[in-house]
Amino acid sequence: MHELSIAMAVIDQVRDAVPDDRVESLTLRIGELVAVVPEALDFSFGLAAEGTLLAGARLVIETVDGEAHCDGCGRDTPTGMPPVLWCGDCERPLTLLAGRELEIVRVVVADEGPDGAAVGDTARDTTRDEETSHVPHR
Ligand SMILES: [Zn+2]
Repeated sequence: MHELSIAMAVIDQVRDAVPDDRVESLTLRIGELVAVVPEALDFSFGLAAEGTLLAGARLVIETVDGEAHCDGCGRDTPTGMPPVLWCGDCERPLTLLAGRELEIVRVVVADEGPDGAAVGDTARDTTRDEETSHVPHR
């Protein structure tokens, strides 16, 4: 199952990035052409996160529409899904601009809990913006 392998790759990457923190939520940016069913990914993520520090984390999925450019007439056009990468006007292939993204854009980690940082440290930022990282996928 496509979504399960993506969920497992995402979890691996997050665990590498924040090995000791419980993850509260994580945001993924996924292109239309990756053809992920958000509900299936959410479900797979829940299963794959079981027993890890990502268990119970909220998954936020941002989708990116597929878009392609024609060098012939210079127009940018939505690819649709399944994608059409051919300019009907110029009879030539289009260059894909967007739609193949599969990136972790944000990881929010939880407070350390009762034994964590001193109370009153109100300015402590529990949000970490990871460098956008690409998840390997086919
Ligand atoms: Zn064209």
